Amino acid sequence: TRTPLIAGNWKMNLDHFQAIAFVQKLAWALKDAKHDYSSVEAAVFPPFTDLRSVQTIVQADKYEIGYGAQDVSVHASGAYTGEVAASFLASLDCRYVLVGHSERRTLHGEDDAVVAAKVSAALGSSLVPVICVGETAEDLEKHGPSAVPVAQLTRALEGVDSAADIVVAYEPVWAIGSGQAATPKQAEQVAAELRSALRESLGDEAADRTRILYGGSVKANNIAGFMREPNVDGALVGGASLDLNEFASIIRYQS
Ligand code: 13P
Repeated sequence: TRTPLIAGNWKMNLDHFQAIAFVQKLAWALKDAKHDYSSVEAAVFPPFTDLRSVQTIVQADKYEIGYGAQDVSVHASGAYTGEVAASFLASLDCRYVLVGHSERRTLHGEDDAVVAAKVSAALGSSLVPVICVGETAEDLEKHGPSAVPVAQLTRALEGVDSAADIVVAYEPVWAIGSGQAATPKQAEQVAAELRSALRESLGDEAADRTRILYGGSVKANNIAGFMREPNVDGALVGGASLDLNEFASIIRYQS
């Protein structure tokens, strides 16, 4: 009974003008297709500078598309130039925030302690953290498929209450932007291990209710295979989420 979530991570693409047009067209396309948001939820993760515009259009036209930021500060407020507080995202009615995306980890030096602090900051402002984990090609060779993502998730969940609303995104680094998606079986194997880690850290109820997404070269032509797997509850889509028709097709994978 986990509602699938298809989420688009725009990364550093689309300014606020483009964001308004994109969200509007996406909502219209889904409306034309009579999309049932209660059977598959849709969300976008635009750059910070787009969020106010996305909030305005979503609320004015009553779109059911969720949205959130791609990152959040560990701090509540103060002298942290360039940072954005979780409470500011909550003021914009963000539902979600990405935490620990591999690009943050590798390009901006975020370690597991920073990721855990961001999870806690997000939950402190009633945002749902989408906790991103995943192994590099080197990790895969050295430690096998699930050791690194499981360790990353376990550390990110330290201090998290078992009632917390979270989402997990498994994104193998070697599959991101490479066109080389994991196979559905590979994704399922790691997702099952991540669910066991959720069970250990947060208990049965949380493990059964928490959605685990797969990310890494998800396209309209491979989404259905992932969604057939019992432990994969959705997708975090990068490149393909910037193409309106492609992203709408991914959301409409059931049809
Ligand atoms: P791609 O879908 O472009 O591989 O990116 C995946 C990703 O990093 C989503 O967060």
